[in-house]
Amino acid sequence: MALGIEGVATELRSVYASGKTKTFQWRVSQLKAILRLTTDHEKEIAEALRSDLNKPEHEAFIHEIAAISTTCKFVLKELRKWMTPEKVKTTMNTFPSSAEIVSEPLGVVLIVSTWNYPFLLSLDPLIGAIAAGNAVVLKPSEVAPATSALLVKLLGEYMDTSAVRVVEGAVPETTALLEQKWDKIFYTGNGRVGRIILAAAAKHLTPVVLELGGKCPVVVDSNTNLKVTARRIISGKWGCNSGQTCVSPDYVITTKEFASTLVDAFSSELEAFYGKDPVHSNDLSSIVNSRHFDRLTSYLDEDKVSGKIVIGGQRDRANLKIAPTVVLNAPEDSLIMTEEIFGPLLPIITVNKIEDSIRLISSREKPLAAYLFTNDKNLTEEFIRNVSTGGMCINDTTLHLVEPTLPFGGVGESGMGAYHGKFSFEAFSHKKSVLQRGFTGDVEARFPPYTPGKLKFL
Ligand code: NAD
Repeated sequence: MALGIEGVATELRSVYASGKTKTFQWRVSQLKAILRLTTDHEKEIAEALRSDLNKPEHEAFIHEIAAISTTCKFVLKELRKWMTPEKVKTTMNTFPSSAEIVSEPLGVVLIVSTWNYPFLLSLDPLIGAIAAGNAVVLKPSEVAPATSALLVKLLGEYMDTSAVRVVEGAVPETTALLEQKWDKIFYTGNGRVGRIILAAAAKHLTPVVLELGGKCPVVVDSNTNLKVTARRIISGKWGCNSGQTCVSPDYVITTKEFASTLVDAFSSELEAFYGKDPVHSNDLSSIVNSRHFDRLTSYLDEDKVSGKIVIGGQRDRANLKIAPTVVLNAPEDSLIMTEEIFGPLLPIITVNKIEDSIRLISSREKPLAAYLFTNDKNLTEEFIRNVSTGGMCINDTTLHLVEPTLPFGGVGESGMGAYHGKFSFEAFSHKKSVLQRGFTGDVEARFPPYTPGKLKFL
């Protein structure tokens, strides 16, 4: 296996050296191929996502299939502009001269992807890598095997496989991939493996993007539109793959007085969305596998937490389903408040004053996303200024992620580097400084002999 992987890396390097992937035409042809494979096979993609995650077709379409088509179209529209060297002004330091910043591809890059949006999170970075003119190896997640197999099939049929390869596998294959020299590694997943990626990259001085996770807080002020708030939190939590989403609300902070009002709002909106028997709702994804199911139920069964479930708690291990579950006042040292949840459980913790939430968030690791619901402009300003996080939404959840004009990425424990829109192109490009001069206009002070007289003209 290791030899096979070494062979793939060597082959891609020679294809990259031929210059083929750098041309505008090649990039466009490959982006169009991704668009075609996505629209031609919508049904098969949705079926693979149903098989891996029991993902509702509606979510599969909006969050993965349509998202990739939209991104392809956006990049195809913008690419020529992004590839055009950016002319910049020069100063007296180099007079007379002209200068520009040229975006060049990095070379041969590795993308290691994850299982929760296995189609989107494989192809989204791939689009960026191709747009920037790189040869690419994609390693999808073995935890979503149906989508991984479909990616091998579709990319094999539609793409130029001399420069774009899919390598399937788990830890041994990824370990073998990480032994190769890459010009960039783009990793999506958890921070433990993120550290393995970073250590492997360090051996070759390879730059990395780490798209990691964390506990994303939602602050709910009592001065809010309650119904809209509850619906938007539910949509970002249970409506996003049953909470198996890196930017899903992980826990809510509200005031002691407001907590029961918020719980009531969650209760009635959840019933309106998923009915009285949500554990059997077809509109909720399953938990990806029994290991994650047992991990999540262990958070609920912990002694410190079991008496605090105020909504839900029902589970069906045979179908890997857990009902939307809300836990009120879980202790700070409970598993549900210390581990990233990544599932359909939502703890609510309370503070005396809503402003205390900012201190509480800042005392923890920096999250990938943070959310605030309020009508209070001062609180909003304070939140934006003082909460350090990958990204944030005010009065909504998760939507910053679908705005291609915004960079998407973490900070601190939630990752490094960013992508989406032009930021994807930049993540896989090197910005090369090019200064051009003619043969006149030299300042004598730069040349020996260094006589004192030459300095007085500077
Ligand atoms: P996972 O188990 O699929 O692992 C991710 C990748 O790492 C896979 O391709 C896997 O093969 C590889 N891998 C696993 N163990 C490895 C090892 N020991 N050495 C080398 N490679 C290894 O996914 P996961 O980590 O369970 O994903 C969930 C995490 O990802 C959560 O923390 C979530 O917040 C985060 N996430 C982040 C984003 C983002 O965009 N920031 C998106 C989705 C998920």
